[in-house]
Amino acid sequence: MSETVLLNRAGELEAYYGLPAEVKFCKRCVISNQRPSSTVEFRHEKNEKKAVIGFDEEGVCSACRFNEIKETAIDWDQRDQALRALCDQFRRSDGGYDVLVPGSGGKDSAYTAHILKYEYGMNPLTVTWAPHLYTGIGWKNFTNWMHEGGLDNLLFTPNGKLHRLLTRLAFLNLLHPFQPFIVGQRIIGPAMAARYGVKLVMYGENQAEYGNKIDENKKPTMDEKFFSADDPGEMVLGGVKVKDIIAEHGYSLNDFAPYIPPSADSLNAKGVEVHYLGYYLKWDPQECYYYAVEHTGFQANDERTEGTYSKYSSIDDKIDMFHYYTTLIKFGIGRATYDAAQEIRNGKITRDEGVALVQKFDQEFPQKYFRDFLDYIGITKEEFHAACDRFRSPHLWKRDGGQWVLRHQVS
Ligand SMILES: [Zn+2]
Repeated sequence: MSETVLLNRAGELEAYYGLPAEVKFCKRCVISNQRPSSTVEFRHEKNEKKAVIGFDEEGVCSACRFNEIKETAIDWDQRDQALRALCDQFRRSDGGYDVLVPGSGGKDSAYTAHILKYEYGMNPLTVTWAPHLYTGIGWKNFTNWMHEGGLDNLLFTPNGKLHRLLTRLAFLNLLHPFQPFIVGQRIIGPAMAARYGVKLVMYGENQAEYGNKIDENKKPTMDEKFFSADDPGEMVLGGVKVKDIIAEHGYSLNDFAPYIPPSADSLNAKGVEVHYLGYYLKWDPQECYYYAVEHTGFQANDERTEGTYSKYSSIDDKIDMFHYYTTLIKFGIGRATYDAAQEIRNGKITRDEGVALVQKFDQEFPQKYFRDFLDYIGITKEEFHAACDRFRSPHLWKRDGGQWVLRHQVS
């Protein structure tokens, strides 16, 4: 089969989304320089200029560099003291909640909420933005978080009809089915804190762990730029302005309440501060897992997740694997790459082991819940694959013997 190739003005293969035309892999882990540095704001327009993970002149990614800083340059005892001082500042003894922990009850939020309550003497309210479709193991771990972990929780489930529509739009327009979920999940913590009069919000790890700007982790708080919606009708969800979704699909602005962020001003006025526990305590996902098993009744899955080799990370949502499948299509980075890169950095596996795992699992198609995913967003198998093919950047993919093949793979 002949290959249709799109070349840019310099005669290079066209790179969508402003991705670097030359694909490089980190010398230390297995991540490539195609990894976007934010999943929330990414609009996935083909001609968009998007920030990606940094690589230095030695070919090492910024997440690996951040890990060096974590291992050598941070005084973790001092950070622990800072956390104790922060808790002292916010701790209440009047029967109210003094910290809000957003999360699913997966290993990271289970660890965050439990250690704040039982090690730092706080009174957390945990708040969950519901997954699209709970898995059996996910629901069990979620309920164990309260039943075994001894914590209070508010489960927030958005209007399922609207959330399905937004997920469908996000898949078809952006090939980013998790975008509405990520938006809701980021908003729910600060929004509920403001509503319940809790002044401290504590998230888990900072995204610098995975390659966002290292500077972001020099401070413990979340960037305020995320919290701004001057005109909610102009907000874009699933690649469409909210006002256009309202006009076309018969919703009202009120239906979008859970997706409209509280303004930075309103949070400031109520004294709400958003912090990351990963700033204060050295973050290690595998240690969070061991902690959650011991303290909150967390259980790993009995089989590995499709597209990777791991059994305990993000296992609560039936459509989670389609998030990673779409990152494979758009950036050439599948779930095994994310998992292996993190485990190499944390010294759990070697780079050679990571490369072998990526080669074995990264491109595996998520078959198990494919029907559920198609039914959830209301498209056919053919529409699914046609959408994927629209988002394959020519500089990453080629046709070979009737199959799509990645031009560059880690080795
Ligand atoms: Zn790296």
